[in-house]
Amino acid sequence: MNDCLFCKIINGEIPANKVYEDDHAVVFTDINPKAPIHLLAIPKEHYSGVHEVPHDRMELFQHVFFAVNQAVRQEGLAEKGYRLVVNFGDSSGQAVPHIHIHILSGRELTWPPG
Ligand code: 5GP
Ligand code: ZN
Repeated sequence: MNDCLFCKIINGEIPANKVYEDDHAVVFTDINPKAPIHLLAIPKEHYSGVHEVPHDRMELFQHVFFAVNQAVRQEGLAEKGYRLVVNFGDSSGQAVPHIHIHILSGRELTWPPG
């Protein structure tokens, strides 16, 4: 369909350790974790950035945050504290051009981020 790494994870072409999945979103562990717990929540529809989602497709955000909500509950992250991060563009360090919410937990997370 396309060359997107995360679309390949969604359709099973590339394996991933999925901790939550429904019809609209997937949450899986990051291959190169930046914290003891590092998950990525992605919508199944492909958009590179939040600003690219058309206004008549805003339910995408409800779906991906539902998946975040489920993963946080399931993995018991509320007790530990967690941070959500969404990068866009080269200056942010975005490496994969498919909307993804980083879920970082399990260590002290300094503020502001670099
Ligand atoms: P970005 O820098 O685009 O915000 O984040 C991309 C994230 O995807 C990085 O944290 C990186 O470690 C992760 N990643 C890259 N390739 C793969 C992969 O093939 N599998 C998984 N599970 N994570 C990946
Ligand atoms: Zn994609």
